[in-house]
Amino acid sequence: MQVNSTPQLSNCADWHSHLYEPVFDLDRDDVIARAKAVGITRFCCDASKESDWIDIENLYKQYGKTTIRPGFGIHPWFSGATQPGWQDRLISKLDQYSDAVVAEIGIDWIRRAYVPFDVQTKTFLEQMEIARDLNRSVTIHCVRAWDKALALFKDFGRFSPEMTFHSFSGSIHDAQWLMLHYNAFFSFGVEIQTGKKESLVQTYKFLLDGAPQTIRFESDSPYMPLIKGTRNEPANIKIPSL
Ligand SMILES: [Zn+2]
Repeated sequence: MQVNSTPQLSNCADWHSHLYEPVFDLDRDDVIARAKAVGITRFCCDASKESDWIDIENLYKQYGKTTIRPGFGIHPWFSGATQPGWQDRLISKLDQYSDAVVAEIGIDWIRRAYVPFDVQTKTFLEQMEIARDLNRSVTIHCVRAWDKALALFKDFGRFSPEMTFHSFSGSIHDAQWLMLHYNAFFSFGVEIQTGKKESLVQTYKFLLDGAPQTIRFESDSPYMPLIKGTRNEPANIKIPSL
């Protein structure tokens, strides 16, 4: 199946990246220019930990709001190392930047040996509540924990802003449930281009047929490259031909 009409890169964003990482310090202008040359003009820069927030602010100031969408939050891998008062500081950061989202937040079953799952869950839900109170979109990392995530959402209840599931790995059933209850979007990394992961391709095709408006693309730069050991960058995003 050739996919070249919908979805389009004309929504022009890399929906999840970490462009503030030092690995881009020497050539960030070039990285952004290469992405713009292939039609990607806006970059969601999502934090992993609180110390990233200042770097994201600096990128926002340097490149401007039409180029950088800031994401402030605590990633589940770092949710065991938060400093007291982070919640208030997150709220004030969101107050300061009206276009900022709460990201990257979530739960990761694989990492539970490093960060206890209850700690991950507590930090995730606290951030979901902040996002709900401030009516901010969220970008969610969920790895091998879809049954647990859906159970958490059932308890959590109403949430009107956009939820973008980064590097979506849930099932078709998960996607259906999320679309039914939330303003859900499903972001696919460059991995989808290979067509190698059968379940991922099935979910992608299901969304493409029935809800193409929910599909987003991301690089997760500098992570998740197609070639192991290399640095990923937003210009590597392409609409998959599957
Ligand atoms: Zn990420």
